[in-house]
Amino acid sequence: MKRYEHGTILAMDQKGTIIHDGTLVVDGGQIVALGTTADMAQAYPQAQRVQLGGKLVLPGLINNHFHLAQTMFRGLADDMVLEPWLFGRIWPLQSAHDTETFLAGARLAMLEMSKTGTTTFVESMVIHYGLEALFEEVSRTGLRARLAKVVMEPMAGSALPPALTETLEGSLAEARSCRRKVTDADRVDIWLGPRWTGMYNPGLIEAVNDAMDTDGFASTMHFAESPEDVERILQDGYLTPGDFLQRTGMLERNYLLIHCPWLGEGDLDRLARGRATVAHCPVSAMKGSMGYADIPGMLERNIAVGIGTDAPACNNTSDLLAEIKTAALLHKHQTGRPDVLPAAQALAMGTRIGAASIFAGDTLGTLAPGKKADFITLALDWAAPMPEGNLPAAVVYALCGRDVCDVYVDGNAVVRQGESLIYDEERIQREARQALETLLKRADL
Ligand SMILES: [Zn+2]
Repeated sequence: MKRYEHGTILAMDQKGTIIHDGTLVVDGGQIVALGTTADMAQAYPQAQRVQLGGKLVLPGLINNHFHLAQTMFRGLADDMVLEPWLFGRIWPLQSAHDTETFLAGARLAMLEMSKTGTTTFVESMVIHYGLEALFEEVSRTGLRARLAKVVMEPMAGSALPPALTETLEGSLAEARSCRRKVTDADRVDIWLGPRWTGMYNPGLIEAVNDAMDTDGFASTMHFAESPEDVERILQDGYLTPGDFLQRTGMLERNYLLIHCPWLGEGDLDRLARGRATVAHCPVSAMKGSMGYADIPGMLERNIAVGIGTDAPACNNTSDLLAEIKTAALLHKHQTGRPDVLPAAQALAMGTRIGAASIFAGDTLGTLAPGKKADFITLALDWAAPMPEGNLPAAVVYALCGRDVCDVYVDGNAVVRQGESLIYDEERIQREARQALETLLKRADL
């Protein structure tokens, strides 16, 4: 048992608990108690003491939408409209990946995410070059992740390159086989990723729903990203995207829907009555001019909307604190209302609400007894956050991922004093550069 003492604890619970000169008591990967340092010293005198030196303590951040395979494409596909971006850059590069180049990018991404405070991430689309290898890699790092295996059915006339095309049976079988290797689903679990609305067909959704019911998978899918996506749904006889979610049974299952800018008010009312949740990626949405998702409207209805940094190819950073700040600013700008998405609510989207968005609200997202000991510390003893009159605002508006000092998952340190304990940074950078050279040659770009 350990006592992490003399920190400023921002518990991120519903009550907005802040404990000055606080202590977090951790045992066996779980939070046992939290309170003032004096009280905790009295209640747990035998616990080993770890000094926090006045640092801010927050729950580990949850990045609920990511594409590891696109980490290597950062800086290769900027400021482009969708079709040349996807057809001319992303798909050819992605087709050139093998397990080695894919993992080189995944390691770089996990290094960046963990150093900037992310303890849990959702990878939304693992293609057939490496689900099992990725599962083993993530398991070794100690990070928490949900790895969604692409599940798809080839479509006649699809522009998807053959290297990225899989069969329904094959993709489901790979997901099932890898899921049998999962020993701690709270830590690394396998999900399903039926790509995006434009590639669905009724058989695919039915098969995914069946696998969710029989095998307990959760799923994540890019949803209603463009007017064309919505048009496709309407052509198939559905009245609205919400009607589609309801009639296909997606609403009542653990689907994390990505982006969702083209949902109307009635769709949000339906979402609020179901189990499905939302991943919001404000930077990629703005960079790709995707349109405004009604995030304030979703939060008003208590829909669990978490935050994702999306792919490094379209962001270009994986710093979740920067993403949270962007979300808070974007919707004030969108609505003309500075009181929309206040700092504490924006920060909750990366912690408490983010946990609910990945169906882990019982175990993650706040600092509370019984929750997993996923927490991060940030230095407050420098100019930017001072004077720290409003702590959530200091974190959201004044700090960023580079201010993160220590990162713990399941009570184990993965970053200490800003240094990665899971990867040799020089080696990861060197291997990423080599992998990029290989990829560019193979893709002939
Ligand atoms: Zn995406």
